[in-house]
Amino acid sequence: MTFKQLGLSDALLKAVSKQGYEKPSPIQQKAIPPVLEGRDVLASAQTGTGKTAGFTLPLLQILSQTETSRQRPIRALILTPTRELAAQVHENVRQYSEFTDLRSLVIFGGVNQKPQVAALNRGVDVLVATPGRLLDLQNQGAICLRKIEILVLDEADRMLDMGFLRDIERIMALMPAKRQNLLFSATFSKDIKRLASGILNKPVLVEA
Ligand code: AMP
Repeated sequence: MTFKQLGLSDALLKAVSKQGYEKPSPIQQKAIPPVLEGRDVLASAQTGTGKTAGFTLPLLQILSQTETSRQRPIRALILTPTRELAAQVHENVRQYSEFTDLRSLVIFGGVNQKPQVAALNRGVDVLVATPGRLLDLQNQGAICLRKIEILVLDEADRMLDMGFLRDIERIMALMPAKRQNLLFSATFSKDIKRLASGILNKPVLVEA
């Protein structure tokens, strides 16, 4: 199995080969095709499996297949539990989108909001965020989630462990009901299953 056989565009294949990846990891082989088809995905994957590319590569491909409107609304949101993970996921998004026209941004708490707001105002296609800072900026009118097409919950189990359930629910209420949802989690407790069943629409189940 190659990345090309998974149906990735030339721009993404170029980025993947720049990273030195030779072939897709098991989670990538299983997750990329249903995401490209527009399906919701429930994936069980630990860190280190290549899960980030598993959702980021097809997400970037879907976004680059359709024209970005001039207002440049945020079209994909990747929620992560911690700043460190947000920064790491965004670094991957930046690398994989290098040869596309898509713009991305990461926002998290504990740092000055001003540069984040300025970057949001310039227009962002893919936003990586922690829940708290996202809601802060939304409350200030700096973020609009009404044009979100794809939502990713990364390390959803850790988000619940950290008490983000209410924040996640608030964030969902700000997005259109019709959207593609991807939920990645290392473990599947009752709470995660309940969260997944409230968010995902006929998900494809994927295991690393
Ligand atoms: P992740 O599980 O997403 O945190 O990824 C773990 C590490 O694997 C990261 O450093 C990625 O750059 C790397 N990686 C992701 N996909 C591949 C691949 N197909 N081949 C080699 N390395 C990869």
